[in-house]
Amino acid sequence: MAELIFRKGLGLKDAVAGALTADYHSGLVESIKSADFRHESGRLTIHLAREFGFCYGVDRAVDYAYQARRKFPDQAVYLTGEIIHNPDVNDRLRALGIRFLSDPGEDASRLGPGDVVILPAFGVTIAMLERLQRQGCTLVDTTCGSVLNVWKNVRRYAQDGFTSIIHGKYKHEETRATASQALQFPNGRYLVVLDRDQTLMVCDYIRHGGDRDAFGRQFGPAASEGFDPDHDLGRIGLANQTTMLMSESVEIANLLRQAIVDRYGEADLPARFRAFETICSATQDRQDAVIELLDRQALDLMIVIGGYNSSNTCNLARICAARLPTYHIAGVDALLSANAVRHRRVDGVEAVDAGWLPPGRPVAIGITAGASTPNAIVGQVIERLDALANAW
Ligand code: SF4
Repeated sequence: MAELIFRKGLGLKDAVAGALTADYHSGLVESIKSADFRHESGRLTIHLAREFGFCYGVDRAVDYAYQARRKFPDQAVYLTGEIIHNPDVNDRLRALGIRFLSDPGEDASRLGPGDVVILPAFGVTIAMLERLQRQGCTLVDTTCGSVLNVWKNVRRYAQDGFTSIIHGKYKHEETRATASQALQFPNGRYLVVLDRDQTLMVCDYIRHGGDRDAFGRQFGPAASEGFDPDHDLGRIGLANQTTMLMSESVEIANLLRQAIVDRYGEADLPARFRAFETICSATQDRQDAVIELLDRQALDLMIVIGGYNSSNTCNLARICAARLPTYHIAGVDALLSANAVRHRRVDGVEAVDAGWLPPGRPVAIGITAGASTPNAIVGQVIERLDALANAW
């Protein structure tokens, strides 16, 4: 077992508060918030969504990482991988001397007593946790309470003989960790569905059966080993990766519920279908706030700020892109000039677009940021928008 496991901080919150403020705070953003989330400068008006940026889980994870570095100045401190999906935050942790086990040349099997390992906000698989404990590492667990809540539901499904259908990305750290929870029980099973299209395939199999091997090839590693759709889709419980798009998750739940009703009848529904809303409140608040902004305010374009691999940021961009020109940027460097922006399109491809900033007339830009984006980056982006818009 581990020598120590820290789950509630390391008693150094006050000691690291100054460093966190210096690295992630923005005076500009705070002043815009207090001016009704609006910033006017020359021909530019910025409208901030009323909820954006660091969520409670990310705040806590980054805080614990700084505390861990401070508490163990002479020991090697590792992260299992990215602490959150923001390149700037991960770079700052590297600069503090925290090493990433996901980096080339690092090897978790060499760790032992005396090494400190930080577990990220999205958690780790049970196999990884047990391995680090066996090796006697000191652990700093920053797994978010909202992720732990999903795990609790998935364990209950498995305990009661329900297959967990997880709406998420099967390669995402959080979903891999959540899926591992289902396997703690002898007959635990899971299937990860990415979107509506994959859900419709599952629904079709529930209603009519199908080719078991083709189903296995279709879902591959997104299903637990030995997954048998003829048996394992008979009793299903739904869970979400915490950062998915709420409207899509609701639709997926409805589709699966209806498929079970069509196959087994309404009376059997309670015995064969369970759903639990496991999108976290921070993700929900950010999605609601950006929809509220789009409904309330006429805008020329939206800037969505966050890591390209940040699931909740990508979903904010999907919401916006359905309504108006949207640029999902990782940071201020993406604003190349008044005529060129580098961004991630909603299909996942990075592009450089010309003509993104309307010239010579008043321009209204909406801004939101994912749950792993520090305000410092939001502030830099606003400063750069100000400079570009008013020089042109
Ligand atoms: S996005 Fe939600 S689940 Fe993830 S760290 Fe933030 S609050 Fe926790």
